[in-house]
Amino acid sequence: MINSPKITFCSGVSTVTGANFIFESSKGKKIMIDCGLIQGEKVAMEENKKPFVYDLNSFEALVITHAHLDHVGRIPKLVKSGYKGPIYSTPETRELAELVLNDAAGILAEEAKRDGMEPIYDLNDVQAVFPLWKTVKYHEPLQLAEDVSITLKDAGHILGSSMVEITTDNSAKKILFTGDLGNSPAPLLCNTEIIGEIDYLVMESVYGNRNHESREGRAEKFREVILETMNRGGTLVIPTFSIDRTQILLYELNNLVEKNLVPRVPIFVDSPMAIRATEIYAGSKYLFNDKVREQINHGDDIFKFPRLEFTISKNESQDISRMNGAKIILAGSGMSVGGRVISHERHYLPDPKSTILLVGYQAAGSLGRELADGAKKVKIYGDIIKIKARIETLYGYSAHKDSDHLVEFVSTATDKLKKVFVVMGEPGAEMYLAQRINDELVVKAVVPREGETVELG
Ligand SMILES: [Zn+2]
Repeated sequence: MINSPKITFCSGVSTVTGANFIFESSKGKKIMIDCGLIQGEKVAMEENKKPFVYDLNSFEALVITHAHLDHVGRIPKLVKSGYKGPIYSTPETRELAELVLNDAAGILAEEAKRDGMEPIYDLNDVQAVFPLWKTVKYHEPLQLAEDVSITLKDAGHILGSSMVEITTDNSAKKILFTGDLGNSPAPLLCNTEIIGEIDYLVMESVYGNRNHESREGRAEKFREVILETMNRGGTLVIPTFSIDRTQILLYELNNLVEKNLVPRVPIFVDSPMAIRATEIYAGSKYLFNDKVREQINHGDDIFKFPRLEFTISKNESQDISRMNGAKIILAGSGMSVGGRVISHERHYLPDPKSTILLVGYQAAGSLGRELADGAKKVKIYGDIIKIKARIETLYGYSAHKDSDHLVEFVSTATDKLKKVFVVMGEPGAEMYLAQRINDELVVKAVVPREGETVELG
């Protein structure tokens, strides 16, 4: 009997976090794709403590799509549990993952302490990961085993994010794992590459059943909020994610300031993690889209403009609120759960001259959501804080493709595409997207079950 290649959907099915898939070739060579943290109301849910169900020494390699915690967050546990094989990703994913995992170790330690438990892993476990981690650039084919090679393609989601194309069965079969798919066209990054000729597709579906708000007018609204707040002499506080969102906002601020479309007030990036992520972005300008690269080639340093300051130390951070007058503060976290932004919100929420600018989706249970929902007071560090500041929201900054664009993405595959496996979405989003692909593109699309193994005949 001739064996077929197989995929096992270990986790990251019917949920947006915990991506972890296994490809097995006809000759039994196994590759793991992503090893993400399972997240929910806590950064690390109890499920992450379960032992891995597979033999850790049966893999040729672990391949990582991108540096978000829900794709890399269990790697330290994997290595701690005995995985000794190579890890591969783009160079940028490796750099960002080091930042993300070191940060995660701190958060996991705090969560574990609160729960009176041991953390899943610590900083030493994070350090043990990187000697195994090798890098490969987009489009450089890499042979991982007899009859298994991979090529990374640009997913356009965050810096270095990739889709993993596996070639097997004497080059007769190709399988593409999307990781997360960027909301192209993005301000800084290149567009998601087209699929081309493949046989099977394993794709994300975070926004499988929703379309984004229009991006039209987004830049104008950003400018208006800045102008209004600056005219009042207030402070504009922007809670923002360290990776990608901060760099996009800095790029947009760079353009507004340098074209004199907003007054030249002090602008602070008050987050060590965002500052480091900005350095990594700045070091990989060759990956930006044509428009941004052209601007850079004309001499513009897009992450440097008059009165921009990066505040690393706690003292510098505390000095910001002692400064009178109009200013802008970007700080993490993006939904105001932890991070330095909380202190700034505590300080500026009672100030009628100031504005808190929420950028995009705020999850239920977060301080950001309470603000978005129009709370009149909130509790911060045990104190009741009355809200007198204006609360504004900017939409259109999602880093994921929406439902229409996910369908359009699948349509970039040739007729050779046999089947689509829809994963990494809430059950409703996965089912809806699978149905759309079936109906609109007449391509067979299914939602696998967690733990299921499917043969790619
Ligand atoms: Zn992601």
